[in-house]
Amino acid sequence: MNVKVVRRPRRGWLEQIYLWEVVLGLGVTFRHFFINLGRHILSLAGRPGQPGAVTIQYPEQPPVLGVRARMRHRLLGRADGSPRCTACLLCETICPANCIRITAEESPDVTVEKRARTFSIDLGMCVFCGHCVEACPVDAIHMDADQVELSAVSRSGMIWDITALRRDKVK
Ligand code: SF4
Ligand code: SF4
Repeated sequence: MNVKVVRRPRRGWLEQIYLWEVVLGLGVTFRHFFINLGRHILSLAGRPGQPGAVTIQYPEQPPVLGVRARMRHRLLGRADGSPRCTACLLCETICPANCIRITAEESPDVTVEKRARTFSIDLGMCVFCGHCVEACPVDAIHMDADQVELSAVSRSGMIWDITALRRDKVK
């Protein structure tokens, strides 16, 4: 077996007194501060009334989310409108936050063994890891509902049932 020995790097006295490292850290902070300040001044001078280059005026100005951003879950359906989920429980099993609850029932479709009778996700506990999407063998669950504002006034309000999860994309 090959063992790779990694030697602890020796620190000089300048690093051990930490003052030089503090100066370097402040240098990074001030560099970002002045770069952002310059961007704001240029943006405001060039386009009066327009926001600065970095700050987003949320909620008036919604943020542009990346195409791979994980948003609210969405349960996909078949061509006939029935949920695609076959209640295999893989997503419930793999969920690290233990926030998916599914009960199964027999499907009237002879080509499908089971379907979900109830399916809920507690979005107050979800850590948006995306494991449920990765685990699904029939591509029945996506995290692309274009909805990231998911607050509620009660804990129970954060539990989304199958009807709510069947809602399509917001946009
Ligand atoms: S995104 Fe992660 S934590 Fe949230 S429901 Fe899916 S598996 Fe669970
Ligand atoms: S992994 Fe997919 S098919 Fe299985 S229970 Fe979850 S959503 Fe349904």
